[in-house]
Amino acid sequence: MPWVVTRLCRDNVDTACAGECPVDCFYIPNEPGGKYPNQLMISPDECIDCGACEPACPWEAIFQDDSVPAPFQDDIAVNAKCDEDRDAFTNAEEKDNHKPSPEEVAANKKKWGL
Ligand code: SF4
Repeated sequence: MPWVVTRLCRDNVDTACAGECPVDCFYIPNEPGGKYPNQLMISPDECIDCGACEPACPWEAIFQDDSVPAPFQDDIAVNAKCDEDRDAFTNAEEKDNHKPSPEEVAANKKKWGL
């Protein structure tokens, strides 16, 4: 059962999750904000359901596919695009990004209707 990066990642793209993944199955669009949104995606074909990424995400953006909140259901299909259209994606690498405050995390959830 693959895990899913939801739109809580969008335009935040922390990448700490990618550093935890034992099978390197996080992807980023080659042209973020173009055909695909500026966010990380998990390959449903490659994810081994270990759960290691979820606690690493400071934006609390990662869910198991059967637990994705209702407002984010479309993100399941968005993540699958990195398998269906692989040439449009690059493997994501961990970078040293800004860590959000609890207030920023809460505001981001509210912005996306959670
Ligand atoms: Fe990678 Fe495990 Fe997260 Fe799947 S659940 S994306 S294998 S770290």
